[in-house]
Order: sequence, then structure tokens, then C-alpha cells
Amino acid sequence: MTARGLEISPMQIAVRDLVEGYVNDDEDGVFGYGGRLNIRPPYQREFIYGEKEQKAVIHSILNGHPINVIYWTVEDDGSHEMLDGQQRTTSICKFHDGDFEIEVNPHNLGAKGEVLWFHQLPDDLQEKILDYKLMIYLCRGSASMKKAWFKTINTPKKDLRPQELRNTLHHGPFITAARKKFSKTNCAAYNLGRKYLSGSPIRQDYLETALDWISGGDIDRYMKDNQKRPDADELWEYFQNVIEWVQTTFPAYREEMKGLPWGLFYNQFKDSDLDPAALETKISSTMMDEKVTEKAGVYRYVLTGEDDDLYKRAFSKKIKREVYEKQKGLCPRCGEKFDLKEMQADHIKPWSKGGDTVKSNCQMLCRRCNSRKSNK
Ligand SMILES: [Zn+2]
Repeated sequence: MTARGLEISPMQIAVRDLVEGYVNDDEDGVFGYGGRLNIRPPYQREFIYGEKEQKAVIHSILNGHPINVIYWTVEDDGSHEMLDGQQRTTSICKFHDGDFEIEVNPHNLGAKGEVLWFHQLPDDLQEKILDYKLMIYLCRGSASMKKAWFKTINTPKKDLRPQELRNTLHHGPFITAARKKFSKTNCAAYNLGRKYLSGSPIRQDYLETALDWISGGDIDRYMKDNQKRPDADELWEYFQNVIEWVQTTFPAYREEMKGLPWGLFYNQFKDSDLDPAALETKISSTMMDEKVTEKAGVYRYVLTGEDDDLYKRAFSKKIKREVYEKQKGLCPRCGEKFDLKEMQADHIKPWSKGGDTVKSNCQMLCRRCNSRKSNK
């Protein structure tokens, strides 16, 4: 079988072979299959399965149910990289390694049981897991073909985020370095900016936001231009400057500051002579104004003088849900799919131009597209 010039051949391996020599190290990476499988190559996502999903994988195996096909590359030296199946693979390895426990009744798999670690399972169940056959598709081809294939198999998934895809397409030393700063749980960017940014580092929201700001919206161009750069120092320094500017300009923190397009404000006003005390006085009095319904709009207002965002009424939860369903979860600007909680309601005809807060004037935009729109 071939796809886009990639040669693909099936292979079955037992779980016991997969978990052999499993290592999971933040710095050195994640390996299995006797060290010959790189489970977390650079274009892969961070591990994002929740506990429930990890346990579901193990229950599928115990019950002999199939789990989806897994894709590996074949590298020139005969080793492998995970193309697709990282979440399932890591769940299996982690369970075998004693990272989490599952509820199981050894005498009746369908019944309520007790909570057991892998090593506490009776021998026959341990063997059942170790003997379980995984279906692997081996993919041979050039790096670019493999990446194109990774995109093909991942794109239909609703949970692949635009920035995760960009990381794949612009894979290289720059993105590897950038992810160390922006894409890990408790990463430096999170610790520095979590009061000012929304989203999750491991879903690449922090990286996407920083790239969006530094590139003035053209993330792909910036990533392409910097792809071969050995570090992400420029991006990291920029990000630190933005946060420092926010903290200096608006020293009194309010929760409405979380999720604002601070980098775009910084780009526009970093050289302006702003008086933090005067700004604070203006913010405080505008915040107290009960006619102001959108308190987060106050920050844009004190910087730009635009009061469009201040008085518009918020769409109800009901309208947001209805419009989200009508859009089938797709952002009409970038065409990507998001969860409802990752999107924001927007007045199609601006409130300031007489647009009403009614369903027919509502569109759900992703955070990024919405912040770009309101910054126009
Ligand atoms: Zn969008």
C-alpha cells in the first residue's frame, strides 16, 4: 500500500515487545520497543490523555477489544518514530511501568472490582496484556512525505490543534527549543505569564499566542523563517518583554487581564510614554461604571481610546451553544475546529455600529481570530 509516495506495510507486535526497555525522561525523551522506538519525536504532541482515557486503553486490551491502528516510521538505521498512536502507546507503557492503577475484577472483567496496579494483577491477566497484539503500520519514505502523512492521518481528528499541526510542518531545532519554553506543563512561559494568558501550554496555546504576537499574526511565516534557527531566544526574549511591559504599565492585577492580546498592545504601545498611575485611575473609574458590561474591554479602551468593546451586551450561554452547533464547531475565520469553551462569541455587525446582541448577529470565533478581529 502506498500513500503520497510513502510505502506502508503492516506488522503485529505484542505488548511485551513494545514495553521492553521503556524509558520516559523529560530531557532525553520517551522510548520503547527495546530502545528502537522513539515514542515522542519532535513533531509529536505532549502526552495529553487524561486518566480516564488511559484506563480505557487498558480495559480494551484486557477485554481483547481492538485499539486503533498505530503508525511508525522506518528510519534509515532501522529504528522507528511514532507517527500516530502516541497516546495509546504511552498509556500501555505507563500502566506496565506502574504509573497508574485500574479497577478490575480478575474473575469477571465486566463486574465491579478492586483497584490494582499491573504487578498486582493475577499472572494470567498480566500475560493477557503482554500477549495482546498491536497492529502497527510501518511507513517508509522521505521526512517530508512522512510529515505529510502525519498531517493526513491527524487532520480529521477533532483534537489536533492548528498549532500542533504547525509544529509538525515546521519541525526543526527552532520549534524544539521553543517547545521547551512554551509547551510543557509548568514551563517557563506558563510560570511567567499564566496570569495574563489563557489556554494550556501542552495544547500549544502559549506557544501559539507568543508566535501570534511576535509575528503580528503571520505565525507560519515566522516559523518558516526561523525553522533552522538553533534556539528560540528571540521569541523568549520578546515574550519576557511583553509580560514585563504589562506588569510595569498595569501593576495592579485584575482577573480581566487574563487572555487579552497583550503582545499586540505591546507592539503598538511599547514606545509610547504611558503613565501607569494615570492609567490605573482611568481603569478604576471605568471599571466602576455600571454601564460598562464588558470589563475586559477597559484595557483596550484606556490604551486606544476605543470604547466599542465596553458596552456591548454579552451573548447568552444558550445562544453561544446554538451558534456553535450550527457552525459544527468550526471557526469561520480560520476554518479550524475547536471545543465550545475554546471559542468566544463575536458580534458579526459590531455593537458600536448598531449590531444587536441576538443569535442572528452572533458568530463563534476561536480565541486567536477573535483577538485579531477586535484589534483591527
Ligand atoms: Zn479561528
